[in-house]
Amino acid sequence: MSNKIVGIDLGTTNSLLSIVEGGEPTVIPSAEGDYLFPSVVGFSKTGERLVGAVAKRQAISNPERTVISIKRFMGTDHKVRIDDKEYTPQEISAMVLQKIKADAEAYLGFTVEKAVITVPAYFNDSERQATKDAGTIAGLEVVRIINEPTASSMAYGFDKLDSTENILVWDLGGGTFDVSILEIGGGVFEVKATAGNMRLGGDDWDQRIMDWLVDEFKKAHGIDLRTDRVAMQRIKEAAENAKIQLSFETTTKINLPFIAADASGPKHLDLELSRGRFQELTADLIEKTAEPAMRAMEDSGLGIHDINRVILVGGSTRMPAVQDKVRVLFGKEPCREIDPDKVVAMGAGIQGAILAGEVKDIVLLDVTSLSLGIETVGGVFTKLIERNTQIPCSKSRIFTTAADGQTVVEVHVLQGERELASHNKSLGRFELRNIPPAPRGVPQIEVTFEIDANGIVNVSAKDLATGNRQKITIQSPTNLSQDEIDRMVKEAAIYAEEDAKRREESQTRNKANIEIDTAERTLRELAERIPLEQQRKLRDCIDRLRMSLQTYDTEKIRQDTKSLTDTMFAISTDAYLSTGTGKVAGQEKGGIELTGVSSEEPSEEDLFGWFQK
Ligand code: AMP
Repeated sequence: MSNKIVGIDLGTTNSLLSIVEGGEPTVIPSAEGDYLFPSVVGFSKTGERLVGAVAKRQAISNPERTVISIKRFMGTDHKVRIDDKEYTPQEISAMVLQKIKADAEAYLGFTVEKAVITVPAYFNDSERQATKDAGTIAGLEVVRIINEPTASSMAYGFDKLDSTENILVWDLGGGTFDVSILEIGGGVFEVKATAGNMRLGGDDWDQRIMDWLVDEFKKAHGIDLRTDRVAMQRIKEAAENAKIQLSFETTTKINLPFIAADASGPKHLDLELSRGRFQELTADLIEKTAEPAMRAMEDSGLGIHDINRVILVGGSTRMPAVQDKVRVLFGKEPCREIDPDKVVAMGAGIQGAILAGEVKDIVLLDVTSLSLGIETVGGVFTKLIERNTQIPCSKSRIFTTAADGQTVVEVHVLQGERELASHNKSLGRFELRNIPPAPRGVPQIEVTFEIDANGIVNVSAKDLATGNRQKITIQSPTNLSQDEIDRMVKEAAIYAEEDAKRREESQTRNKANIEIDTAERTLRELAERIPLEQQRKLRDCIDRLRMSLQTYDTEKIRQDTKSLTDTMFAISTDAYLSTGTGKVAGQEKGGIELTGVSSEEPSEEDLFGWFQK
């Protein structure tokens, strides 16, 4: 038993565990003696469960019963089926974590109970929850989930910088590519932007070598190795080895004896690959890394010269071509003093030591990857938390009812960048009931979004009159992959104009209905004080606006609303002035206009939403 909190980098290809000993983070080796624990789980034909290096090894002969890259499915309802049993991604990840925990305990000589686990900065709520659950299943108390780029920066000790700096973390692993931009200063880590490509990693470079080997072999011997699974598995291993060799050597030999046979006898694959040829074969893959990098730059609002340092993370950044690309893009030498495989785990270990009270505290600020908000009248998506907002955060806004006597409101929580709710991703919904019946616009419902340090979202709605409250924690498996996030952000940009038009239409109609309501109330309440002639004029305006509401002519609706408002204002001013109260109908909304809910100076529309009927 120990109070130590370990750090775990639960990776797509490999996982690692680190612990701070004597003030320094160390990476713990597996029982097999390697510090990389392959994130692979295998089920032998005899029912035995294999985890880590042994599972990776049997992947070659037993691919159907081997689970790789389960991290891609975290937080989804994807299941792995082996024989007649199904496993969730959490369970598979838990098996990897259990193996790491057991090996670390054997090495350290005490029970490992608490851990910090890292996740990509773009991981959404359910992906983070699933990671936490995997830890729990493995018997670990997950004290904190932290972002991988934040961990990397901590490993480099950038919390001790004298001035504020912008750090770009370039993480190219086996299967994924992530770019994150952090602002670090005074012990504060703030993730300013993230972008990436979920389907770009070292495996793609391996594949190019494999294709080249198979094509060359076919040219020489006329045999297509693609149909021979066993041969392809040998080729895959050889391709990865060749790639790794080419990070240190300018040329490498690939030798696979007895790879095939035909009537003339056995055939051997024996080829030489130069670094230059390899770089030609993979030039487009290098190019692909630039796009997410530039997107993150754009989102961060920084220029190339504002980036003070670039950190290289992930085994694939050992490739010279990757380092060259970074030099060209950012005009500086990237930091690669710490082993790019270990850097994330080491940062997690440091965070563990901080949480255990061994090292002085550092504030961690992360960001949301997509905006969060609720659906309001007309199907409009009203954002409460903008994308790239620092977490933990909390934001409240007051909403009201859209119909007279409405006693129930539905809070529909969504995530995305589009203006209309239906174009965004639904995260969950709940109802707040028993609102005392009142005219539309009178009840005040405070909706609060809270995102905790782990990125987990809580949404609550409170009726300010009664204090009644309802809430949900977003846990539903509605996951967004980086691809989906990218798609949603892109679509939002493409459809921005169209969406804005529809939102405006919806708001114009909403405003028209409110004005009709107010005018009718004015007529009812002030009938005896308004001359008949003026009453008729007001009724005409109401009728005209009702007619234009039958059409989709937004401009006409706007004009007719304006003439109704003007007429009403003139009439009610006369009516009130004649009684000396000085209160005018146009100001009646002032009674429910709410200020002070948000720290910025919000417009009326900003702090005032209308729930769907
Ligand atoms: P990671 O996911 O960070 O563990 O990275 C694993 C990827 O890094 C795999 O695709 C490895 O083949 C690749 N890798 C490891 N070492 C090297 C190297 N020296 N040169 C090129 N790629 C490497």
